Amino acid sequence: MTDTSIMFCGQRLPAIGQGTWYMGEHASARRQEVEALKAGISQGLTLIDTAEMYADGGAETIVGEAIRGQRDNVFLVSKVYPWNAGGQKMAAACEASLQRLGTDYLDLYLLHWRGSFALKETVEAMQALVAEGKIRHWGVSNLDIDDMQALWQVEGGKACATNQVLYHLASRGIEYDLMPWCQSHEVPVMAYCPLAQAGRLRDGLFAHPDVQAVASNHRATVAQVLLAWVIHHNGVMAIPKAATMAHVKENAEALALILTAEELQRLDKAFRAPGKKVALDVV
Ligand code: NDP
Repeated sequence: MTDTSIMFCGQRLPAIGQGTWYMGEHASARRQEVEALKAGISQGLTLIDTAEMYADGGAETIVGEAIRGQRDNVFLVSKVYPWNAGGQKMAAACEASLQRLGTDYLDLYLLHWRGSFALKETVEAMQALVAEGKIRHWGVSNLDIDDMQALWQVEGGKACATNQVLYHLASRGIEYDLMPWCQSHEVPVMAYCPLAQAGRLRDGLFAHPDVQAVASNHRATVAQVLLAWVIHHNGVMAIPKAATMAHVKENAEALALILTAEELQRLDKAFRAPGKKVALDVV
C-alpha cells in the first residue's frame, strides 16, 4: 500500500501532519507531548503545525524540544496573530516564534485569521521575512472565498501557499465554493479539526453507524476513517493533534487507508455537503 501524499510548497509531503493546539498548557503533560510529536515524526507525520497563540508560545516550546537535532526532517508551520500581521510587529512575532522553536527558519508562516491589517501590509511583511530567510513560504488561515479573492488582487498575494481551515466529515461547507476555488488556484487546503476534536465539535460523529461500519470494513478506527476521508480530497491535507501515543500511531497508519467508492458514497449520504453557501466554520 502507498501512503497518501500531497504536493505542498513545491515538495511532496505525507498528507497527514501533526497539530499542537492545547499542547504546552500543563507542565505535567510536557514529556508526553514531546514524545508524541517525536513518535509522529518518526512515523512519517513530518509536518508540524503550531502558533504563537497556543499556550501563549508554550506549544512552540514543546515543538522546539521535539524537533531538536532533527530540524531538517520536519516541515515546520507557525502562525502569527492578526494584530501582529504587519511591519515590524510581524518581524518581532516571527523572531519570538523562532526563538521558542529553537530554529532559524520556518517552512511556512500563516496569518492565523484576518484582522485589521490590510492584506497588502501582511503580504509585504511576509515577503520581507522570506527575503531575510526567516520563512520559506507564507500562507493564510480562516480566510473565506471573498478574502481569498481579495488576496489575489494584492501584489504578491498569489504566492500564498495554503489556506488552513476547519474541515471534517460533519463540517463540509468549504466544499461548496472555497475548496473548488483553492483547487483551481492550486492552493492546498490544510484541514484543521479533522477529527472534529475527537467528536466534541459534533455529537454522535464517532458513534455514527455508517462511519463505524466503514471503519470495521477496514479493521480501522473511526478516527482513521475520518482522516482518510479528509485526505482523499484533491489538494487537501489534515493536521490532527494527538498527545497520546496510540493516537499518533493510528493517525500515521491512516495514511495508508484508502476508502472505496461505495464507502465514500455511504459517508457522503450520511453527512451531506451543503447545497448553498454557508459561513466558514471556525473554532
Ligand atoms: P482535532 O480534530 O485534531 O482533535 C484533537 C483531539 O482528537 C485530541 O483530543 C486528541 O486526543 C484526539 N485524537 C487524536 N487522534 C485520535 C485518534 N486516532 N483517535 C481518537 N482521538 C484522537 O482538533 P484540533 O483542534 O487539535 O485541530 C488540529 C490542529 O489544527 C490543532 O492542534 C492546531 O494545530 C490546528 N488548528 C488550527 C486552527 C486555526 O484557526 N488555524 C484552529 C484549530 C486547530 P489526544 O491529544 O489525547 O491524543
